[in-house]
Amino acid sequence: MEITELTVHELQDKIKNKELTISEIMDSYCKRIKENEPEVQAFITTYLDEAKEKAKNIEEKINSGKIDGNYVGIPIGIKDNICVKGTKTTCASKMLENFIAPYSASVIEKLDKENIISLGKLNMDEFAMGSSTETSYFKKTKNPWDLNRVPGGSSGGSAAAVASNMVPWALGSDTGGSIRQPASLCGVVGLKPTYGLVSRYGLVAFASSLDQIGPITKDVRDASMLLTLIAGKDERDTTSVDSGNKDYAKALKNDVKGMKIGIPKEFFGKGINEEVKQKLLETIEIYKELGAEIEEFSLDIANYALAAYYIIACAEASSNLGRFDGIRYGYRTPEYSNLKEIYKKSRSEGFGAEVKRRIILGTYVLSSGYYDAYYKKAQKVRTLVSNEFNKAFEKYDVILTPTSPVTAFKLGEKSENPMEMYLSDICTVSINIAGIPAISIPCGLDKKGLPIGVQIIGNKFQEEKILNVAYTLEQKIGFREKYKPEFKK
Ligand code: GLN
Repeated sequence: MEITELTVHELQDKIKNKELTISEIMDSYCKRIKENEPEVQAFITTYLDEAKEKAKNIEEKINSGKIDGNYVGIPIGIKDNICVKGTKTTCASKMLENFIAPYSASVIEKLDKENIISLGKLNMDEFAMGSSTETSYFKKTKNPWDLNRVPGGSSGGSAAAVASNMVPWALGSDTGGSIRQPASLCGVVGLKPTYGLVSRYGLVAFASSLDQIGPITKDVRDASMLLTLIAGKDERDTTSVDSGNKDYAKALKNDVKGMKIGIPKEFFGKGINEEVKQKLLETIEIYKELGAEIEEFSLDIANYALAAYYIIACAEASSNLGRFDGIRYGYRTPEYSNLKEIYKKSRSEGFGAEVKRRIILGTYVLSSGYYDAYYKKAQKVRTLVSNEFNKAFEKYDVILTPTSPVTAFKLGEKSENPMEMYLSDICTVSINIAGIPAISIPCGLDKKGLPIGVQIIGNKFQEEKILNVAYTLEQKIGFREKYKPEFKK
């Protein structure tokens, strides 16, 4: 196996056994990026020379006994809406094309402490709004399984970079599915943590009550390790909570005997592609063989979650993006005659079509005549969604659904039709609305050879449970050993 095909825990073993050095690992990744990036287009910024330099310095310090630790020198990729001090954080927008972050996000500080080395910033939908990474101002990332198809979004750069072995793991963010859906479309693992488990300090806000940072990895063990590194209370994010410094890798028991898995029938009906559905049904059979108890149930409020999500997310976005006014941050129009014109022209020229659509929609649902009819009603639906999940978790340990209703679609296929694009999130948004955790792992391929993902949902702060349930399936299926992206042209 090539170095860049290894998971992080496999790299750690090889470093420990002195089979690989940190510089060797770093050189392999830099080479891989040079080879694959022209086709895949996953990065907005790379820091290859700096990364190599850091690796060398770190190696010297290790050899002289100055530093040690399990993660020293491990490479990573970061979604470009997470601030890394002194480097560009663009959110894939013209608005922030030249924005240099004056501080690092809390998650980045945590990685820095471990001497993990970032290889660069990864492409995404503009301000994380989208499901295909096509709304990026800079480039269109391609799906490594088929280069004519999208990697999903909005963390499409992160998922494609992991799938094409340009980074061993990456950070993404998930507001309505942006970690899980691209992970599903690219055949990798993506975890959205419980709201509050990971600090949002330094994550450029899209919809603050829904956003969470989380891992995108090659396997479940790596996801549990990266979660362990980034989780924890942070004084600078008052919505973050103390979850007691858990080691999530300890939860991986490879055993689901006696566990109760709920199957909400609404997630297997209209709009779900037949091949996706069939693969999910096979997956459910595997869990039965492994000794889990399976029961179908109804979660009918989920039918309203998508509508509520797009109202709440747009409302919050319209408020959060108010700060990009041409004065304080980012792009300023070159020609203007008064203050109002600075605002108007900077925002008109700096934001792309999808971002504008959301700002307009969000401003509309918050306006005084429509607040009760839309925003308030959506908040009520949000409570009902949350209540229904709570009720379900009285009966079930975890809930299982498809991650995405379809496998990777063609570039351009949905970009002219926002409604169709929004439907990509039909299986993921209710999880953000309820603030609960969910993981997507690959469970097979469709007839075109494209990955299909299964989503495992848990109750608040039950990451250990969903990680174990996912891990047990992963061990049984052996997806990574069987299938590799083909870079089909
Ligand atoms: N695709 C969803 C949207 O466009 C989710 C985005 C996200 O999770 N950041 O809003």
